[in-house]
Amino acid sequence: MAIAAFSAISILLITSIIFPNPFSDLAQQFFSPILKNSPPEQQPPQDQSCISRTQKASYQKKSPSPVPSPYLLSKLRDYKRRHKNCEPFSEPFNTTLKLLTGNSTTNSTESDCRYVVFTLHVNGLGNRMLGISSAFLYALLTDRVLLVDFGPDMADIFCEPLQNSTWLLPDGFPFRNQFYSPQFREAHSFGTLLRDNNNFTQSVLPLPPPILHLFLSYEYGDYDKLFYRDENQEFLQSIPWLTLRSDQYFVPYLFLMPRFRAELERLFPDKETVFHHLGNYLFNPSNQAWGLITRFYDAYLARADERIGLQVRVFNTKASPIPLVAKQLLKCTQSEGILPQLQVSTNSSFSSVKVTNNTSSTKTKAVLIGSLYREFYEEMKYEYWTRASVDGGGESVGVHQASHEESQNSESNSHNMKALADIYLLSLCDVLVTSRWSTFGYVAQAIGRVKPWILNVPNTNYSGDRLPERACRRAVSMEPCFHYPPSYDMKKKVVVDGEVGTGPPVVHCEDVSWGLKLVNGRQIERLG
Ligand code: GDP
Repeated sequence: MAIAAFSAISILLITSIIFPNPFSDLAQQFFSPILKNSPPEQQPPQDQSCISRTQKASYQKKSPSPVPSPYLLSKLRDYKRRHKNCEPFSEPFNTTLKLLTGNSTTNSTESDCRYVVFTLHVNGLGNRMLGISSAFLYALLTDRVLLVDFGPDMADIFCEPLQNSTWLLPDGFPFRNQFYSPQFREAHSFGTLLRDNNNFTQSVLPLPPPILHLFLSYEYGDYDKLFYRDENQEFLQSIPWLTLRSDQYFVPYLFLMPRFRAELERLFPDKETVFHHLGNYLFNPSNQAWGLITRFYDAYLARADERIGLQVRVFNTKASPIPLVAKQLLKCTQSEGILPQLQVSTNSSFSSVKVTNNTSSTKTKAVLIGSLYREFYEEMKYEYWTRASVDGGGESVGVHQASHEESQNSESNSHNMKALADIYLLSLCDVLVTSRWSTFGYVAQAIGRVKPWILNVPNTNYSGDRLPERACRRAVSMEPCFHYPPSYDMKKKVVVDGEVGTGPPVVHCEDVSWGLKLVNGRQIERLG
């Protein structure tokens, strides 16, 4: 207790040194778990336009909350100033815009503001959040401003990251209606420029154009991958408008680039909270989404002794039939002691009740199912209703599900809002089981700072009707996995088919053998 009080006071002291104004949005964002313990008159006023910004701390009960490095905080303060100065319709923005419309009297390299414009991929919310956070970190590292091209399907899901400033790309931005065409990629991508200029190997470099497209999605080509070549970053620095399309968490690869490595080490001494901090900064649920989250949490999860999130992502129900996946889920949760083991029923009868004197010591576990399908909820609920636990009932298990959308419909705003609600609810759980390959699970685990158990979702194409022996494995780091890193040989400076040599802090992922993720200095075991 005394130690806890001491550490709270010392964190408060640090906070007040770093943030002379505890009401600043950065202070609220990162330190509201601490600020919430201060007397009511010293509490920051609630930002009514984004209630989650200040309220989420009281839901994220885990402590101690990781404190961002002072260097990251100072970088974010610089970023805020830069964003404010360069935001849409500011004078520097209008001047830089003229470079695209041909009305400019200055040249590209003289503009005060440089931008990364994130253009969405058709993929789901998890992939989008990973792409946006990677683009933001790239903007931080290269002194740019991040703008996002959100359509109606992303409207009102998140708050603006900065109060009184917008990150939304304005309507009518030149090229906006071409961003998603193959012609735009062919005409403006960095990959095309490299291809047409012999990989920049000739002595005369092309003149920097005012806009270049970085195509970094999973299906990128070899020339696009040369974005990750250190030397090419110098050239990219001179481009005022970079559009960036990615559905990937490419942050681990930035750590492999000598140009960024030292800066990243300073920004993130703890490698396993990189997405946690970026996500905390960028992704505050809108008031509508926060309503979905808190109403469900208060009604079904808040009073349990332990909250267990089971995120079950089935990419292909033919290859991974739902009953088989449900079996694997039960096997994982019971064999790893996440949920009580159940008596094996000898016939179709239900377990009988046993006499117990002490019901007050029963521990309550609330299970939250995150899935497109209802069957996992039905199955889990039925099992824990009809069968008694082996140890005679020291724990009671309640099973809940907020939504079951049945299919992915990422072009729908309300569907995406429910997806964010599930991601957030999962992040508020004390224990998590996530599904291999799923970015949805990655985001939940990283926001919630939970090292999940990764479910080995059976695939009958590989294992037939048998369940893979290992049902799940504990992740060593809550960082997301970069699924499609470039196979690029740094020394020979060519893209290669083989693997890139890795060692901590960048290692291969547990669930995707060729993927890369950040750890604090350990090798990891594969899921198998
Ligand atoms: P990934 O495909 O698992 O890597 O995750 P994504 O988030 O990129 O794409 C999956 C999309 O399917 C989500 O964004 C949702 O639209 C939908 N989805 C998948 N699982 C769930 C779930 O548990 N709950 C909800 N509400 N939607 C889900």
